[in-house]
Amino acid sequence: MIEKLNPQQREAVTLEPQHALVLAGAGSGKTRVLITRMAWLIQNGQASPFGLLAVTFTNKAAREMLTRITAILPIDTRGLWVGTFHGLCNRLLRAHHRDAGLPQAFQILDTADQLAAIKRLLKANGIDDEKFPPRDVQRFINGAKEEGQRPDDVEVWDSHRRRLVEIYQLYEAQCQREGVVDFPELLLRAYELLSRNAPVREHYQRRFRHILVDEFQDTNTLQYKWLRLLAGGGAYIFAVGDDDQSIYAFRGANVGNMADFERDYAHGTVIRLEQNYRSYGHILDAANALIDHNSGRLGKNLWTEQGEGEPIRVIEQPSDGMEAHWIVDEIRALVADGRARREIAVLYRSNAQSRVLEHGLFSSGIPYKVYGGLRFFERQEIKHALAYLRLLANPDDDTSWMRVVNFPARGIGARTLEQQADAARSQDTSLYGAVARVPGKGGANLAQFATLIQRMAEDTRQLPLPEMVEHVLHASGLLDHYKGEREGAERIENLNELITAAAVFASEENFDGLPGGVVPRSEPVTDAATGEVLPGAPADGGLTPLAAFLSHAALEAGDNQAEAGQDAVQLMTVHAAKGLEFDAVFITGLEEGLFPHENSLLEQSGLEEERRLMYVAITRARERLYLSLAQSRMLHGQTRYAMRSRFLTEIPEQHLKWLTPRTGGGSQGYGASQGGYGEDRWSGASRDAFGRKPTGTAAPRAPRSVSSGVTVGDRQFRIGMGVRHARFGDGTIVGLSGSGQDAQAQIQFRDVGTKTLALGIAKLDVI
Ligand code: ATP
Ligand code: MG
Repeated sequence: MIEKLNPQQREAVTLEPQHALVLAGAGSGKTRVLITRMAWLIQNGQASPFGLLAVTFTNKAAREMLTRITAILPIDTRGLWVGTFHGLCNRLLRAHHRDAGLPQAFQILDTADQLAAIKRLLKANGIDDEKFPPRDVQRFINGAKEEGQRPDDVEVWDSHRRRLVEIYQLYEAQCQREGVVDFPELLLRAYELLSRNAPVREHYQRRFRHILVDEFQDTNTLQYKWLRLLAGGGAYIFAVGDDDQSIYAFRGANVGNMADFERDYAHGTVIRLEQNYRSYGHILDAANALIDHNSGRLGKNLWTEQGEGEPIRVIEQPSDGMEAHWIVDEIRALVADGRARREIAVLYRSNAQSRVLEHGLFSSGIPYKVYGGLRFFERQEIKHALAYLRLLANPDDDTSWMRVVNFPARGIGARTLEQQADAARSQDTSLYGAVARVPGKGGANLAQFATLIQRMAEDTRQLPLPEMVEHVLHASGLLDHYKGEREGAERIENLNELITAAAVFASEENFDGLPGGVVPRSEPVTDAATGEVLPGAPADGGLTPLAAFLSHAALEAGDNQAEAGQDAVQLMTVHAAKGLEFDAVFITGLEEGLFPHENSLLEQSGLEEERRLMYVAITRARERLYLSLAQSRMLHGQTRYAMRSRFLTEIPEQHLKWLTPRTGGGSQGYGASQGGYGEDRWSGASRDAFGRKPTGTAAPRAPRSVSSGVTVGDRQFRIGMGVRHARFGDGTIVGLSGSGQDAQAQIQFRDVGTKTLALGIAKLDVI
């Protein structure tokens, strides 16, 4: 098991019980070390499988970990606590739902459901959604929860914020009434359960002797507190991470946890791994050089024995369509060369980029699979079906009620629903509870719907899970509805796939922490003081297979088991690619404003996070890496022109090989390493860091089929142009979008960073 490891890896795997942090760069074997250590601890009698808790970043990783452990040791994995933070917290809350103040069959709201619930709340309370945009409210609530704050804990400094806190309060009451829990709530509840309930806490503190955490750099404050609490009884934490791969700050991740760990567990060991086993030299050196532009790093050096391999291929195309076309052709060639499709990944910064890539692959008949886009369980028809199932489990789930009360259409209109909502509010009940109070025809229709739900619940009570799902698809009218729809065939196929998913779930163990199909055992807890065994979940009832399946559906994060075996090209965002590796990787859309993303350019920290993201992207590749960009791109209905990403210029030229002619012409040092950031491919003149041309005129020397300029009034603006603004000072235009009076420019100012200005309004002088 440990023979194949290098000495540092071996040291980490075989450490005597103690706190340890493995701090190491991409592809150095952190995940491998973590998994091997689990197996090693068990095999050497240092720990029982039940004394281990391991946190992974995705369900897929959890599954892989269990597969690898059972390959080494034939054990029943059901008692193993391996999963994502959300999966583990879900398991904890189900087992102790009473202590946590939840119904055992509580439902989980995914991000979209949560947003719908917030919209409904704002409407019901007459709150202006222009002043309080639902997405902002959602961000506020989730941000507070991720910091471990309930409404009372949130600091208030103005009336707007006070109102936000009130909304948070209303939202909590609504969730509690409906028996639903959102993602950050899973964590916060689980944390509160442990911190407030001594017997439960002590039980788990006694039970878990070893706590292992992968991707530690992306834990948030609350997750870290949760870990510390669990470890408080003397367990050992073994954390692996890479500060250079911290890419979830926007979701509350706190890379400072790594430094805190070194402080909180000062007597522990820090181990560094420096050999990279994944990538060839050109790829690795490019990644090292790029990340070197960041400040405040913990500092690591990665090397490989694999030799330098092939240089990184760079492609520049006039449009996003042609970029996609080029990539599809190249993929075809790679496959013809005998590469497995699943070993080819196409990465992008933003989900919006996937459409044109998908289109290209689809038209060429190349099988592909998109991760992190619209996942199976997030498709409209699946969410409708799940909403019916959720209502069977809990008719008070208003979000589900609203989703399907008039789908398929049952003549229940907006007016009726308003009356129902009013009645529910005045009676302080769920929508379901208020059905009888709605008068007239609308009320009768509602009553009929309520009866339908009750009847479905009764008719399916004795059925096994897959048959239950099948029954509901028919009885709800969903199948008939989609049969009548022109493009319904695919939806029907997906609905049938849901029956399959239920069957798979019921027959197998799944790794959200709940054994599929069976009622999970409750975890009896012993009071440390008295020795009394306290009941956890009720001994008889437990969770129904349906409720277990529904929580599985909500937690299943993009890794669709059903298609796992298929040999398909992998499409995903860079975020979704974390921890994975492929033989060949395409990183697309390397343009200023896209990657790095325009929202990140306002602050240094934002730019550094983008650079870490690029580091993650590069280090996914084993053998071959492609970087591509388009000179113009349709995004959100607008054609945008942008400059080449600065990340391209941060990779030393010796690692790059241009497969397409470099635009902008000639010998002027257009090369990435010499040209610098302000390069203007349109005029062919090189510029300094702020886009000022040293010589020459602005006349385009190498006009392309697309124009990089926009005209506003009688003035022309072009990318690369130097401008002066009365307040912001001198800067360079780095991006343009829109036209005429709607035209906007992204300008990189020398002193104040990047700003987006409306060209029709901003007063700019050309310099
Ligand atoms: P990331 O930071 O991207 O998550 P990581 O540090 O977790 O990467 P792993 O995924 O564990 O790295 O390992 C990278 C690759 O190197 C894997 O294919 C792994 O099997 C391989 N590898 C790790 N250690 C060794 C070793 N000692 N000998 C051979 N291959 C190894
Ligand atoms: Mg890893």
